[in-house]
Amino acid sequence: MNAIPVRPEVVVVGAGPAGMAAACTLAESGVEVLVLDEQPAPGGQVYREVEKVHAERPEDLAALGTQYRVGLELVRRFRHSGAGYLPRTSVWEITAASEPELAIGTLRDGAAQMLYPRHIILATGAMERPTPFPGWTLPGVMTVGAAQTLLKTSGLIPAGRIVLAGTGPLLYLYASQLLATGTRPEAILDTRPATSMGALASLLPALAGQPGALLRGLGWMRAVRGSIPVFSRVTALKALGDECMASVSYESAGQSHELKAELLLVHDGVIPNTWLAMAAGIQHHFDQRQACWVPDVRGVGRTSRESIAIVGDGAAIQGAEVAILQGERLAHEVLGQLRTPAGPVQLTPAEPTALRQQRLLQRFLERYFPPTAYFQLPLDDSTIVCRCEEITAGEIRKVAALGCVGPNQAKAFTRCGMGPCMGRKCAATVSQLIAQVRGLPVAEVGHYRIRPPIRPLTVGQLADMSIAGEESGAPSGAGSIVDLLTPGDQ
Ligand SMILES: Cc1cc2nc3c(=O)[nH]c(=O)nc-3n(C[C@H](O)[C@H](O)[C@H](O)COP(=O)(O)OP(=O)(O)OC[C@H]3O[C@@H](n4cnc5c(N)ncnc54)[C@H](O)[C@@H]3O)c2cc1C
Repeated sequence: MNAIPVRPEVVVVGAGPAGMAAACTLAESGVEVLVLDEQPAPGGQVYREVEKVHAERPEDLAALGTQYRVGLELVRRFRHSGAGYLPRTSVWEITAASEPELAIGTLRDGAAQMLYPRHIILATGAMERPTPFPGWTLPGVMTVGAAQTLLKTSGLIPAGRIVLAGTGPLLYLYASQLLATGTRPEAILDTRPATSMGALASLLPALAGQPGALLRGLGWMRAVRGSIPVFSRVTALKALGDECMASVSYESAGQSHELKAELLLVHDGVIPNTWLAMAAGIQHHFDQRQACWVPDVRGVGRTSRESIAIVGDGAAIQGAEVAILQGERLAHEVLGQLRTPAGPVQLTPAEPTALRQQRLLQRFLERYFPPTAYFQLPLDDSTIVCRCEEITAGEIRKVAALGCVGPNQAKAFTRCGMGPCMGRKCAATVSQLIAQVRGLPVAEVGHYRIRPPIRPLTVGQLADMSIAGEESGAPSGAGSIVDLLTPGDQ
């Protein structure tokens, strides 16, 4: 693609499995579709850098596993689909619900630009659930997802004494990938509680629906437990050290322990990445079971905004296979709405059985790996909650006790959520702490109001963007600087 179409029929945000599948289906049907992603190559989280690994580091494929390899086929289909694709492009705003026209703010190579599609598909995927605990901001502590990203992008394998803590499929997948590279962590500190009746009850339906995936997961856990000491029901996790982490302390089976380690990798499952959807004014609700906010979605990806759909893990955590199926199904719906000039749209039969089977698996996973209570509500008031502004759980509890009604007021009082991560690392914790102190459901306490830009953007980039918008024939007013600076932001 040479020139960037300023008014494509459809913009897809996210070149993961969901976004690629939707874009392929649309492009192959003759729709002008543009895919934006901040990563340098298509693949999303699960198939990150799959082309590069195949081409340049094929020896790493064995460690990354069979599920990773299958991504290459989808990426190749996407490359040949005719869809426009802008890598290294961040989306920092979608105009609010009150705007008459859809507009989407992008940043690429330092240049901001507004695009005006007829339809937007958000396929922004998941992010790791934040895990505040004493010492989590020390150098030497990072997330399992970040470590796995380094493995996929650069073949980087951590050295020294490594400890993994937390729970969830990704933790065991990464541990098994480390073992396959010949690296053996010192221990896994598993924070998963005792298996609930609900988890047991959902095991058989999941096994009947998705035996392959379940057995694969059990295989990782068995391989890991056979090679790495796993401590169960871990709580009171702390990273200890002065300049950087030197050891990890924890409790298991009523005993306190301390392990010397240079690297602690923590993980507590993944949650939908909702920032862009929230900035677009799409309605969300708090999912008590998953301890996270999720968009209100009807049917296949329909949201409270008619021309914006959400698909994949950004709608609800269901894994890559569901993301692909949903991406394709949603694309057919959008095709129907757009009525492409290519003629009547041939809807392929939906795949309800496959989707139902995947959902059964996900239901089991949600119950087997519930969010760790210890990370949800830090007991120790000195635990940093907002990493960017170094605001502790105690400070949030204090303002809540003084009558602070919700996270937006807490932001004004303490600056929590005002750093470069824009609240992604603390939003859920701050809302839950306030709800705890005030004795209210989290849904009632609410979420940070998410305003654009959701990615860092300089004033200079904003100023230049308005020129780009005018040059490319943007409608007057839409996406101008004046629109972006709402009174509350000033
Ligand atoms: C860190 C991490 C690692 C994971 N690893 C695995 C794994 O190894 N195996 C597995 O089965 N599952 C893994 N998952 C779960 C996995 O994300 C999925 O189930 C699957 O990738 C979901 O596909 P998706 O298309 O919905 O989203 P994703 O694959 O997450 O793709 C979303 C894409 O949207 C882009 N994006 C998001 N916001 C913006 C924005 N504002 N502007 C521009 N682009 C944006 C991202 O760069 C990303 O490429 C992982 C999840 C996380 C969070």
